[in-house]
Amino acid sequence: MRLILLGPPGAGKGTQAKRLEDRYGISQISTGDMLRAEVKAGSPIGLEAKAIMERGDLVPDAIITAMLAARVSAPGSAKGFILDGFPRTVPQAQALDRMLADKAMPLDHVIELKVDDAALVERIAGRFTCAKCGEGYHDSFKQPAKAGVCDACGGTEFSRRADDKAETVAARLDAYHRQTSPLLPHYAAQGKLRQVDGMAEMDDVTRQIAAVLGAG
Ligand code: AMP
Repeated sequence: MRLILLGPPGAGKGTQAKRLEDRYGISQISTGDMLRAEVKAGSPIGLEAKAIMERGDLVPDAIITAMLAARVSAPGSAKGFILDGFPRTVPQAQALDRMLADKAMPLDHVIELKVDDAALVERIAGRFTCAKCGEGYHDSFKQPAKAGVCDACGGTEFSRRADDKAETVAARLDAYHRQTSPLLPHYAAQGKLRQVDGMAEMDDVTRQIAAVLGAG
């Protein structure tokens, strides 16, 4: 199964991708996570991407597309994948169309998580993760059961993304509306676009996605 999760930052793409990964045994491919790993490693890509990400802008298509192509060709992607945060521009979507056509690996679905802009700033600005296992939390919606201790692994260190500050979120939303939302008609024209209500409770969003996937 090959899927794209589309939606603005904070729509819940990462959370839902992780759940689908567990449920269907296919890998989540998050270009944001890949870039954060490059930044952490201080690689040439990381050095170029760091300031761009901190401003909330998009990293150039050529860098992202090359990074993604390598990942999609890796053996772990043979069973399928969930793209989370890619594509984000029409040239990226066109490059992906070509890449998958060459490999005879068509996309099954593109699922849009629809969320109101007003909810996103609060959702994003409050989020944090366990530094050890990556479990996600939120100041208002999901605190660890025991303060300061990760429910999943018992870790006691947490981190917040550098670009999750309220000032940067506005730039990221603007990038979504200007550069990414044109992908909706791109995939609608291919007959692949499905929409789910991303404002619903997390488990309900998972059920809506499962219903789309079950419908074939
Ligand atoms: P994300 O974790 O998906 O919210 O991505 C975090 C940041 O990484 C974005 O704000 C962009 O600066 C960069 N980024 C991630 N994926 C892409 C992409 N497909 N194209 C361009 N920039 C990206």
